[in-house]
Amino acid sequence: MLSQLFNPRSIAIIGASREEGKVGHAVLRNILQYGYKGTVYPVNPKADEILGVRCFPSLRDVPGPVALAIFVVPAAVIGPLMDQCIEKGVAAVIIISAGFKESGREGARLEREIRDKARSAGTRMLGPNCLGLIDTSSHLNASFARGMPEPGNIGFFSQSGALGTAILDWAIGEKIGFSKFVSLGNKADIDEVDLLQFMSKDSHTNVILGYIEGIRDGREFMRVASDVSKKKPVVLIKSGGTEAGARAASSHTGALAGSDKAIEAAFAQSGIIRARTLEELFDLATAFATGRFPKGPNLAIVTNAGGPGIIAADAVERSQVRMASFAKSTIDELRSNLPAAAALYNPVDVIGDADAQRYRKGLEIVLRDPNVDGVMAVFTPQAMSDPEETGRAVASLVDSNKPIIASFIGGPAVKSGIDAMKAANVPNYPYPERAVVAFDALAKYQQWRDSPPKKIQPFEGNKQIVKEAIARARQEGRRALGESDTREIIRAYGFQIPKSILAPTAADAAAAAEKMGFPVVMKIASPDILHKSDIGGVRVGLKNAQEVESAVHEMTSRAKRLMPDARIMGVLVQEMVTGGKEVILGMTKDPQFGPMLMFGLGGIYVEVLKDVTFRIAPVTREDAHEMVTGIRSYALLSGVRGEQPVDVHAIEDSLLHLSQLVTDFPEIVELDINPLAVFPRGREAVAIDARLTIGEGG
Ligand code: ADP
Ligand code: MG
Repeated sequence: MLSQLFNPRSIAIIGASREEGKVGHAVLRNILQYGYKGTVYPVNPKADEILGVRCFPSLRDVPGPVALAIFVVPAAVIGPLMDQCIEKGVAAVIIISAGFKESGREGARLEREIRDKARSAGTRMLGPNCLGLIDTSSHLNASFARGMPEPGNIGFFSQSGALGTAILDWAIGEKIGFSKFVSLGNKADIDEVDLLQFMSKDSHTNVILGYIEGIRDGREFMRVASDVSKKKPVVLIKSGGTEAGARAASSHTGALAGSDKAIEAAFAQSGIIRARTLEELFDLATAFATGRFPKGPNLAIVTNAGGPGIIAADAVERSQVRMASFAKSTIDELRSNLPAAAALYNPVDVIGDADAQRYRKGLEIVLRDPNVDGVMAVFTPQAMSDPEETGRAVASLVDSNKPIIASFIGGPAVKSGIDAMKAANVPNYPYPERAVVAFDALAKYQQWRDSPPKKIQPFEGNKQIVKEAIARARQEGRRALGESDTREIIRAYGFQIPKSILAPTAADAAAAAEKMGFPVVMKIASPDILHKSDIGGVRVGLKNAQEVESAVHEMTSRAKRLMPDARIMGVLVQEMVTGGKEVILGMTKDPQFGPMLMFGLGGIYVEVLKDVTFRIAPVTREDAHEMVTGIRSYALLSGVRGEQPVDVHAIEDSLLHLSQLVTDFPEIVELDINPLAVFPRGREAVAIDARLTIGEGG
């Protein structure tokens, strides 16, 4: 469908201008200048001819069919002109003009009106308020940008016109080839999802690059992105929008979540490579444009200088890239080919007096090692070295089946070497740290591409129990569910909960504790007290009836003093859970992506430690596994200092149950299970405390 936009047979430029410096002039000139082969119809009632091309007073006067119409006229007149386009059967339009949604209410109305017209006629529309587009394979430059990039395999789209121009200028200067360049503007019709779909099928595009500010439909985006990213790498930079976490959240999960966490999770789950800075976007673009991916994370470094080699190895240590350990035969071969002073272990130092020949030999040998997935060529200009020849030597090995990235460090002295490599499609990074980041992304992408398709494991919860509990809360006009209802709900979805007895009086509490067996835990029972420990409403390890009774008096009187309006139903006497570690499971709703799950080390310090991971629900077991192993302090769960590792599989189960619960019941808007006590292999996790909120109405 979008092909008419990129490769139209004929184009009308509505608002083509004779005046140099005007956008309507620049667009026409670009179309004529860069070799577009189709028919061009400038439309302007005040001109007979522009840039040597016959001009027409209106679209109606254009003799032949028009596939693409480009608008460069004021926003207010586009509505009626759109009708003419539809009459004429125009397949696609580009609205370069501004003055729409970005300019206020009236603009937004105009934009909707035009979009609706286009939609009802099946006409696709790019913009408004955009720069236009470039397609190097059809030699079409339908933009007012300065210059045209070389043909290449990067497809790029940008929601910001200004950033688009900057990237284009960089590409032209650095001779980075593009297949397509698209400025999305206000995204009234065509958006990032359309372009992902289109570019995934475009034979000229091997890498998809994009800058986005907002995502129109998060779920749809994830669905399409997961599919596209399996075929081609997608590298996106997403600017921070407003943090949803800024609103007052009553749950830990709500307080720790936010739109950026959702983006992070959504990208990870759909195989999107996220560039964090513009620099990284460029760095990754050149790495991915090579189309060569390492089979694993093991990197060999070859250098002609010790210091930079160590810096590179340090950068590797800080990343998820691994320093390859060489086979014995590799070491032997290096020893017999390099001078005695050379370092034979990774990083391989061919030392400062190395000529291009020796440097090449070092590279060649490590490339052959089966434990090496890719090589980084580090080079600094030294008295005896020849940068250009060395660059050529690196370039000559580009067709080995392993990726080679370079870090020729310096300025004018290394430029000739960098150029020689660039001509052979070997990316160079001015600093080894950046080369490592690029290699890391390449390795992760290959891993994603090799990973089996994701499958959601359904879990059968007891929906009836949940429905009834939610109905009770609705009837009472409560959005925060009571303690016992929440416990029932999560129990219906496979969670173990500690034995609990609600005791209205001190005597009841003592009796309950006797029945349960000491020690016990006691908690204030009130639907209005969310964080019980904050007001001294939790006591653990009560050893006898006396301790229980005095704790009841103390606890209730303190609660009444600190929260005079809270309804207090008595205390909850609970079985004491020992020998576990405390983690938190949670869910909050993201406005873009819907239910988002959280995992972290739990307990009362969770908001201080902020050691949590997120994924968009529903999650697969692999997602759940990544959530658990992805926290910084995962080592605390995997067993430190002789401790037994906790049962990660059991935590994954819990996350899968939670995922199913919030998927089955979209009315649940927030949920914390904190803490979930987890144990070594063989003992099920126990949900000690839970809090659940439902949405308004419904
Ligand atoms: P709140 O989060 O409202 O303060 P919790 O029920 O989570 O109350 O209790 C606070 C802390 O007390 C928990 O993080 C846990 O460390 C401890 N605790 C609560 N209940 C138990 C229990 N049944 N067994 C063991 N420890 C418990
Ligand atoms: Mg708690």
